[in-house]
Amino acid sequence: MTTIGHFLSNKPWSGSSDRNGDIFNPATGGISGRVLLASKQDVDAVIELAAAALPCWAATPAAKRATVMFEFRDLLKSNIDELAELLSAEHGKTIPDAKGEIARGIEVVEFACGIPHLLKGEYSESVAINVDSYTVRQPVGVVAGITPFNFPAMVPLWMYPVAIACGNTFVLKPSEKNPTVVLRIAELLAEAGLPGGVFNVVNGDKEAVDALLDNPKIEAVSFVGSTPIGHYIYSRGTANGKRVQALCGAKNHLVVMPDADMDQVTDALIGSAFGSAGERCMAISVAVPVGEGTADRLVEALEPRVRALKVAPYTDPTSELGPVISKQSYDKIRNLIDQGLEQGAKLVVDGREISLQGYEDGYFIGGCLFDNVTTDMSIYKEEIFGPVLAVVRAGGYEEAVHMINNHEYGNGTAIFTRDGDAARDFWARVRIGMVGVNVPIPVPVAYHSFGGWKRSLFGDHHIHGMEGVRFYTRLKTMTSRWPSGIRTGAEFNFTGGKDA
Ligand code: NAD
Repeated sequence: MTTIGHFLSNKPWSGSSDRNGDIFNPATGGISGRVLLASKQDVDAVIELAAAALPCWAATPAAKRATVMFEFRDLLKSNIDELAELLSAEHGKTIPDAKGEIARGIEVVEFACGIPHLLKGEYSESVAINVDSYTVRQPVGVVAGITPFNFPAMVPLWMYPVAIACGNTFVLKPSEKNPTVVLRIAELLAEAGLPGGVFNVVNGDKEAVDALLDNPKIEAVSFVGSTPIGHYIYSRGTANGKRVQALCGAKNHLVVMPDADMDQVTDALIGSAFGSAGERCMAISVAVPVGEGTADRLVEALEPRVRALKVAPYTDPTSELGPVISKQSYDKIRNLIDQGLEQGAKLVVDGREISLQGYEDGYFIGGCLFDNVTTDMSIYKEEIFGPVLAVVRAGGYEEAVHMINNHEYGNGTAIFTRDGDAARDFWARVRIGMVGVNVPIPVPVAYHSFGGWKRSLFGDHHIHGMEGVRFYTRLKTMTSRWPSGIRTGAEFNFTGGKDA
């Protein structure tokens, strides 16, 4: 059985901890490997090496750092088949879905290739006689990334290409549920020419995370995962004086206006609610048809499509969605479905009893469609993170907007309409970080920034794009006087030699 360890100074590393965890194949429920769980001492040792690599890397010209990113991008592209296979085997998502997430990650690497341009500062000539002012962005230092299971390749790639290109060194703590693809990508980054110690991976659980949060040499932490853990990481990290961005859980609504094209809406909902078995932070989990007539037409159109979803392991090329990640997730999703029924929602399509020959112990749940969901039900309030779509009928447009603005999460939302007035009013007024108009999953491209509002994000910065560059750098502003020999006399009035 394979044991997945850590990656330090461009080489595999086992550390000293004797703790390890099981990696499961979600399609069979069997154990497919083991992952080493780093101790505090292991994490501290990795941080020491990352700190030692920092001065040289930070002083490397940005254009030279970019050449590593160019090479890395080519290696990711040429190895995408192997990476997708590793990813799907541990995550369970289909191969096209795995390739899709790697492709979105590559876009961030492409963004990081432009780092010399992105780090250009500002210059003001003659802010006073012979005095000039200019700003530069410098790396923050050693930074850490803590990432979730659901995008094991893409979410880490949201972070470290930008951080490294900015001149930082990086310690990544990926999800212990599917760590293999991360390590293979780390090898590719080493092959691309990255000096040892600049990018390191430690596998582990809470002990490793706490060691990262408490070590004074870590200057900044990027986290992506669930809201309770994100809140904990933000609180502990900031209490220790670190810069923290924590991107968290979600409950994304899609509003269907009466004038929307119902075929387009149905396609959009099927892909965005059930793709990747609903395990996406930008999945649509709530459909909000406006008006009873719209709701009836929507449920009628969705029902046969949800019933027909092809649930199968990733090895079946006709699969549309695979298993969920773990027995724990499987039980949680089923439990929430039970609560939906107890609380009075109507389960129009019940995917619970799906059984696949040869995969009876896998964590498969078929597509589920609930109608008549109300905002006081747990299936509305909680993030289910499974293939479950809830239809909440809204009497009017204002009720839909009010509902979205009152939800504790604020990651993504969308409206489907042909009415420009409604669309504009919607994106202007919703208290949500990413908004789609006739686009169900409005994930920003790499040169824009990704992030939610409310309890979907703790911290001030969204991720990748210019927000990523700002997060991973500190601004420095210089004021200089040349020629230096000119005497202005002592100044007591803070006016830089001008009259007050
Ligand atoms: P999770 O919060 O369980 O785990 C995320 C990371 O935190 C992992 O590396 C894990 O090892 C670590 N962790 C878990 N428990 C911990 C603890 N008690 N103390 C310290 N560290 C701990 O999340 P997950 O189940 O892997 O991922 C799913 C969640 O991630 C969903 O809520 C989803 O919405 C969210 N997510 C959000 C975004 C976003 O951009 N907003 C993107 C992807 C996923």
